[in-house]
Order: sequence, then structure tokens, then C-alpha cells
Amino acid sequence: MKVIDISRTIHPDMEMYPGDTGPQITKVSGLDGGDSYNISRITLGTHTGTHVDPPLHLIRGGAGIDRLPMNTLVGNARVLDLSSINRPIEAGDIGPLEAGEIILLKGGRSASCGAYLTAACARYLVDIGIKTIGTNAISIGTLDEEYEVHHTLLNAGVVVIEGLKMTDVEAGDYFLVCLPLKIANGDGGPARAVLIKEKE
Ligand SMILES: [Zn+2]
Repeated sequence: MKVIDISRTIHPDMEMYPGDTGPQITKVSGLDGGDSYNISRITLGTHTGTHVDPPLHLIRGGAGIDRLPMNTLVGNARVLDLSSINRPIEAGDIGPLEAGEIILLKGGRSASCGAYLTAACARYLVDIGIKTIGTNAISIGTLDEEYEVHHTLLNAGVVVIEGLKMTDVEAGDYFLVCLPLKIANGDGGPARAVLIKEKE
């Protein structure tokens, strides 16, 4: 069994959504300072690094991160490699999908880039009825259609995973385990995500 970590490392200088501030990690107690243990306090946004967007991110009264069905984040998943496409992803780029699938998009030629969807593509995914869409981009929508892409997906109950790190992941079928922090009524949740491949 092969386990591939597809999470971004949390550190103060990591890539953030424009305007969002990076995490702060402050030592509260330290061995170097003569204390008998190391403990830190972290301050970070709910949409830091690899994270999950629940409906409550945009939808008033929508489910928070603590109420997402676990089968939207743990289950069979398909990675599509769209990294040769250097523009927002359109429906035609994705190909045939089935209802209930978990789809992870690996896009962008550079590390700071990624797979961004057009609003029409988001509607296509909703019409098919996929369960979860993930991307290695820090946000699933193109800048000019950001709100519409998110609203279309979240309003339909499609769970969104953003900020995945899939540099070394090939296209194909995997088992996904993505576990966001269980924050009461959380509008987002930083997550550790791994892909599991039964046979190498
Ligand atoms: Zn987000």
C-alpha cells in the first residue's frame, strides 16, 4: 500500500489567498527556554493551505465543516491531470464523469498556479452530480468568476477541497482520506489529505 501526502505544509510564509494573512505559530512553552515541554499556539484562517469549503462558506444556514458527511471526504477518488492546460478549466477538458464521484484536479504549469474552473464548468459538475471536487489551486474559481463558481458548487452541496499539493501524483484512481479540523459551525477547515494506492 502506498500513501501519498497531498497536503501543503503550514508555515508563516506559505501561499495564501490574496489579502488573507499567513498563519502565526508562537511558542508558548519551550525546552530551549528551560520549560519541560514544547507547546505552541497557532493562529490561522479557516481557509489556510489545504482546506475544505463546506456550504456555510457562502450559503447562509448551510452545513458547517463539522456537519459534512464523511463520505464526501473519504472514499474512492479520481485524479485528473490537467497540467498541460494553461487557462481556466472548461467542461470539455474534464471528460465524462459519473454522479457521486470524488474528482481531484491537478492543474497549472507552475506550483503557484493550479486548476481553476469557469462558472460553466462548475455548473457542468453540478449537473452530473459529482460529490466532491478538489484542486491544487488555492481557490477553485477563476478570479473573475470566483463567487459564482463557489456559489454554484456549494449551493448544490458539492464539497470543495482547495490547496491540494499534487506535484508528484499521477492521474488515476486512488482512495482519498481528507480530514478537516472539526470546528463547530466552521466556514472552512484546514485538512490533512492523503491518497492511498492499494497496489504499486
Ligand atoms: Zn476555501
